[in-house]
Amino acid sequence: MARRTKIYEGKAKILYEGPDPDTLVQYFKDDATAFNAEKAAVIEGKGVLNNRLSEYFMTGLNEIGVPTHFLKRINMREQLIRNCEIVPLEVVVRNFSAGSFAKRLGIKEGTRLPRPIVEYCYKDDELGDPLVSEEHIAAFGWASQQDMEDILALALRVNDFLSGLMLGVGIRLADFKIEIGRIYEEDFQRLVVADEISPDSCRLWDINSGEKLDKDVFRHDLGSLKNAYTEVANRFGIMPKSATNLQKPRLIN
Ligand code: C5P
Repeated sequence: MARRTKIYEGKAKILYEGPDPDTLVQYFKDDATAFNAEKAAVIEGKGVLNNRLSEYFMTGLNEIGVPTHFLKRINMREQLIRNCEIVPLEVVVRNFSAGSFAKRLGIKEGTRLPRPIVEYCYKDDELGDPLVSEEHIAAFGWASQQDMEDILALALRVNDFLSGLMLGVGIRLADFKIEIGRIYEEDFQRLVVADEISPDSCRLWDINSGEKLDKDVFRHDLGSLKNAYTEVANRFGIMPKSATNLQKPRLIN
């Protein structure tokens, strides 16, 4: 088998060169990290679940005309994506108070917000992804005014789509994070939803019991992360029950 070139390795994913220059292969690892990697573990099967869940959400977004980087799933752990330049921002949309927002503003976790609130963090692990304002984004040229309008519209469309999808299976979408990629097409650039959408990047609460079905289970030692993610996948009917127990393919770097 031919070796392939690793482009980037992050905490939960690896990017490899794709079959042509416009594409990359995104590999989902089993590694779970929290609090800027202060807490880390390997959760067997997490990568398989997130690959399938992200495929499901991104396919739905593509279907309703919200552009994403997702092209197709290749196997249990890999997907083919469009090669894009990542805007150095984490775009967080919040419907309910939780996590850093609850702490920062002293608003009790679980409080419904008067409207979706969009926040931006500068992507820099060493700085712990600090919250930034549009002033910082404009001053440092991380995104233009037009980009920011497009990013806000994308984030709110993703929020409406995901909130509705989750509601249909009895889950409340408390908040989530997306990343945005730039794709250049001749003289034009297009912004697309990039990275992943999975229980690693969303807060998902069961509507009836309030049970957490996302990475907070790992962050706060609330039980089995794999069971929580499997529950989400099962509600969407997208995983054969035994699939996460399949043997991991050997990594060829
Ligand atoms: O920690 P915080 O409350 O700011 O997180 C808001 C949302 O963004 C959560 O759903 C969390 O999982 C997600 N997030 C993420 N990656 C980060 C920071 C936050 O996916 N680096």
